[in-house]
Amino acid sequence: MSDIFIELKNALGEERVSTNIIDLFPYSRDWSPMYHEKDYLPEAVCVPLCTDDICKIMKIALKYRKPVIAWGGGTGMGGDNLAVKGGIVIATRSMSRILELDETNYTLTVEAGATIESINDFLEPRGLWFPHDPESKPASTIGAAMMCDNDGTFGIKYGGIVDYLLNCVLVLSNGEKLRVGQRKAASTSSGYKTMWLLIGSEGTLATVTEMTIRVFPLPRHRYVMLWLTPTMQDAVDALYEIHKSGVWLESAHVNDGYRLDYYTQAYREKTGMPAKIPEGFGSLLALTIAGDEDVVNFQKGKITAIMEKMKYSLLDNEEIVRGWWASKHTLQWERNKWPSGQKQAKFGAADVAVPPGRINEIYDAYIRYTEKYKLKKVGAAIYNSRPHVSPSISFAVYVDDHDKESVDNFFSYVHAMSKEALGLEGTMSSYIGDGIRLRRLTRLEHEKGLDIMWNIKKIFDPDLILNPGKIFPKEFDPTDYEV
Ligand SMILES: Cc1cc2nc3c(=O)[nH]c(=O)nc-3n(C[C@H](O)[C@H](O)[C@H](O)COP(=O)(O)OP(=O)(O)OC[C@H]3O[C@@H](n4cnc5c(N)ncnc54)[C@H](O)[C@@H]3O)c2cc1C
Repeated sequence: MSDIFIELKNALGEERVSTNIIDLFPYSRDWSPMYHEKDYLPEAVCVPLCTDDICKIMKIALKYRKPVIAWGGGTGMGGDNLAVKGGIVIATRSMSRILELDETNYTLTVEAGATIESINDFLEPRGLWFPHDPESKPASTIGAAMMCDNDGTFGIKYGGIVDYLLNCVLVLSNGEKLRVGQRKAASTSSGYKTMWLLIGSEGTLATVTEMTIRVFPLPRHRYVMLWLTPTMQDAVDALYEIHKSGVWLESAHVNDGYRLDYYTQAYREKTGMPAKIPEGFGSLLALTIAGDEDVVNFQKGKITAIMEKMKYSLLDNEEIVRGWWASKHTLQWERNKWPSGQKQAKFGAADVAVPPGRINEIYDAYIRYTEKYKLKKVGAAIYNSRPHVSPSISFAVYVDDHDKESVDNFFSYVHAMSKEALGLEGTMSSYIGDGIRLRRLTRLEHEKGLDIMWNIKKIFDPDLILNPGKIFPKEFDPTDYEV
């Protein structure tokens, strides 16, 4: 065994460092569609129990110039945590303790390896919750939510990770630890926002070990409404009308006809009856409102009046409404929702953001490129990832990861969709991140800003050992990008 692994074992303990292939294998793939014969085995996996353990790992890794990749739940969909240049995986799930609940100030301090679900399991009996709510919450970690700048169900009301995060503890590539952020206050206008630089950095600048986040009172009552509109653009336009009225939506999702088909397919399988969808309605707007019952009822009335005036149709089948809500909350339901799909083929997505008025154009591109690259559609879903109407869209497809052509086509499709979104004044990834799939396109979105990012990378990680090959190649070559 080489010296570095002996040193790691001496520092952490024999049982918390492994170079055994059986232990490494789970860290060779994330959820991104990848040809099944291709995987990226790291050279070692380390299981830290505290921030100081991560400091020790980093110091040893730096001494040997060995790549280090933080690994949360492995649910990333862009290859963000794959050891493309070998190296050591830090498995953060072993660091999942709740460190402090400050009920007076509505803050929670937690280790970065805690899953989103475990955080809410802790908060719920105390009448509190953390509204960041990705569908992957049973496995995905709070540290990765920061590092991938994720979105979740309730973004339209509560925002994204940038709105929750108050401060965090980082371990730099030289093993030094520091706390950055705004203490427990919701804002600061002093200095640069170092903490914000880390949001979406995919573990390429530092490893986050502790986070203090805002938490909120658990809503006492929630009402789910499903509306049918002719197109997704109509649904997004309707959201503006609802906002103009002063209604404060808790969540707003728009699904296209393909997704609608899947929701009703599960309903069909369960009830043996077809769902009645009126002719001409190809999009589903799923809304929730929350609060005290009288407030909810008032808002329900306002929404109904607005939607009926626009001649949209309420889908008031209780079974489908319950099914839709469940689909946002259990991965088990995911499998039922896509009964003929996920069991045989993987789903992958182009995740782009466009301005609210350009939904039809990006949707046309989805139809065009899935046909061009012979990919079966799962369907499109629009989330609103920031307060107010702010579309972040998942254009999902099935990928047969036993078929190299299907995987190659998938990546061509993602590139084409990302470029299309950029052409529509949008962005090429809204929640998955660059990972290994978009790295060559980053110049197209960031233009000269990419050079500033590279300088920032070198300040945080001068020896380029943190998650190399993501966002930037190991050695930055300004000509290695599509322009
Ligand atoms: C079924 C399914 C549903 C999903 N639903 C959603 C959704 O609704 N919304 C959404 O936004 N995403 C969703 N995702 C994507 C995915 O869950 C998120 O990107 C999530 O943040 C990944 O978390 P993880 O803990 O699994 O991270 P990993 O996949 O392990 O890692 C992701 C990245 O974060 C870095 N990282 C992890 N921990 C740390 C740390 N402590 N310090 C520094 N870097 C770190 C890794 O190096 C890597 O770059 C879904 C994925 C699946 C499979």
